[in-house]
Amino acid sequence: MEDLDRFAQMLEDAQRVVLFTGAGISTESGIPDFRSPGTGLWTKIKPIEFQDFLDSEDVRQESWSRRFSAERTIENAVPNKGHEACARLIESGKATAVITQNIDNLHLESGIPADQIIELHGNSTYAKCLQCEMRYEMADLESQFEATGRVAPCSACGGIIKSATISFGQAMPVEEVRRAEAVTLECDLFVVIGSSLVVFPAADLPVLGKQVGAGLVIVNREPTPLDEIADLVLHREIGPSMSYVVGIN
Ligand code: NAD
Repeated sequence: MEDLDRFAQMLEDAQRVVLFTGAGISTESGIPDFRSPGTGLWTKIKPIEFQDFLDSEDVRQESWSRRFSAERTIENAVPNKGHEACARLIESGKATAVITQNIDNLHLESGIPADQIIELHGNSTYAKCLQCEMRYEMADLESQFEATGRVAPCSACGGIIKSATISFGQAMPVEEVRRAEAVTLECDLFVVIGSSLVVFPAADLPVLGKQVGAGLVIVNREPTPLDEIADLVLHREIGPSMSYVVGIN
């Protein structure tokens, strides 16, 4: 427990913590991550690149078909101890923001105010027209997909509708990246929770934090490329570790 006690002490000493979460925080809610050996989604299914989605109607419909089947796990999931611990740190004022790579909406569902959650890779619980940005609710698109076998173009402008997530090859959301950098520049402790830290530019943020003098803690079952620059690395399970350091059962 020495490492956990050290983590708890680092949290105690810090004034402005930034929490940076990846798919690993949601595996305890039953949502598979991408890269865990054996269970990660990518051991089973190839991701759809943004350009392929734009280029092909068939690829778009394949993506909707996946959304309305495999990703059901996201709709049925509820926040776990890891999310709860993050919410505690935000609520107490110890942490200023959660920067997340996740698209599952579980930080919001755990009670963290929307303005303290920065979603770098968007959100899969709704969709948007890529042209006019009109918002579409998933339940409506799903009914349409079930009835017609497809999701039609935007009713307002004829543009392509896509889940509001950032795909590989798609530009990062400018405002979210700006906010993520701003909170990182202001923090004195940057805590990575459940990310393999191989997706860029998101994985640049812990490095930025270090560059401006913040401490860096990484909580991840497996090693990451940034372990060597971290002040503390916990190769542990997220739920029990985070519960311990914030003092929840
Ligand atoms: P990743 O799959 O690359 O890495 C997840 C890491 O978490 C792995 O290194 C794994 O060892 C670790 N991990 C998993 N469960 C853990 C647990 N219970 N305790 C401790 N460690 C655990 O995920 P990433 O770094 O977030 O990057 C993948 C991309 O996948 C992200 O951009 C994200 O948008 C997307 N994604 C999101 C979800 C989601 O929203 N829940 C799910 C899958 C993928």
